[in-house]
Amino acid sequence: MGRSITYRPGSNFFLDTAMARSRQEAAPFQCPICQVAFEAPVWIVLDAEERPDLRTALLQGDLHQTLCPHCGAAGTITAPLLYHDGRYQQSLLAVPLSVATPAAAQELAEQLVGFLHTALEAEGSSIPTYLSSVELVADLDGLQALLNGDDQDDPLVTAVEALLSTQSAQEFQSLLVLHRTALMQDAADTLLAALVEQARASDDHATARMIGDQRATLNYFRETLQTRRATLARIIDTLPTKDAEAASLAALRTIVQAIEPQDVYATRLQLDPAQQIQLDRLLDQAISAIEASEDETGLEFLLEIRRLREL
Ligand SMILES: [Zn+2]
Repeated sequence: MGRSITYRPGSNFFLDTAMARSRQEAAPFQCPICQVAFEAPVWIVLDAEERPDLRTALLQGDLHQTLCPHCGAAGTITAPLLYHDGRYQQSLLAVPLSVATPAAAQELAEQLVGFLHTALEAEGSSIPTYLSSVELVADLDGLQALLNGDDQDDPLVTAVEALLSTQSAQEFQSLLVLHRTALMQDAADTLLAALVEQARASDDHATARMIGDQRATLNYFRETLQTRRATLARIIDTLPTKDAEAASLAALRTIVQAIEPQDVYATRLQLDPAQQIQLDRLLDQAISAIEASEDETGLEFLLEIRRLREL
């Protein structure tokens, strides 16, 4: 007499056959030492609740490591990783640096989140809403750093996070000044573009518009900065200089690229007193030259540098 088993929907009876949330695929890989090509298993979706062991491997930097079956050399497979932890509503996508455009990163996010959706549906779980917007991070290193809680050390991430929480134009302006070095990098624009893309993909048009506006403002400032740098570099090229002034001239070229006053001080301090006097003379010459060219922005900047000298 056999035991009859009735499947009850919603029970965990079929748990063993349910699809796992964490997903591994075979990735083509070429050994960096002996050049032999082989396929290595690589984790592309990691559910931290399901697989704490994989989370530990990730934090130790071992998750995407592989060993060459031919010569035994260790290598790192370049692959994306979707990291999910339902306990903290975390969904993070480590995007390999080879993925160059925000659209490509978004496509990758959709694909990997799709795998997780399928697994969650298979186990009868509902799809949490936070999965519609995954946070993009740069590569496994970025993910590792974020999970270790030291992402605050990245000035760019800190600056962009601050921007996204601004409530007024005034607040935006002061954050811009506070984080100007980080925000004037091209990487800031790439990050904001990815965030706009992400907000659009999850139909959050208000956020997409807000970040889009911030991006436009930053681009305007970045362009102004680049134009000013180019103008000043041209002016410096026209200055009559002697060979003995090479170090001071190089310092002046560095100084006109500066964003922060401390950059100006630091460059100046690398010169000996005689060279500092040369630098001041070159700066005065540059000011005369730019006065003649009637470039207001460049002139203001050089006068600002001269004021720093007097402090
Ligand atoms: Zn090998």
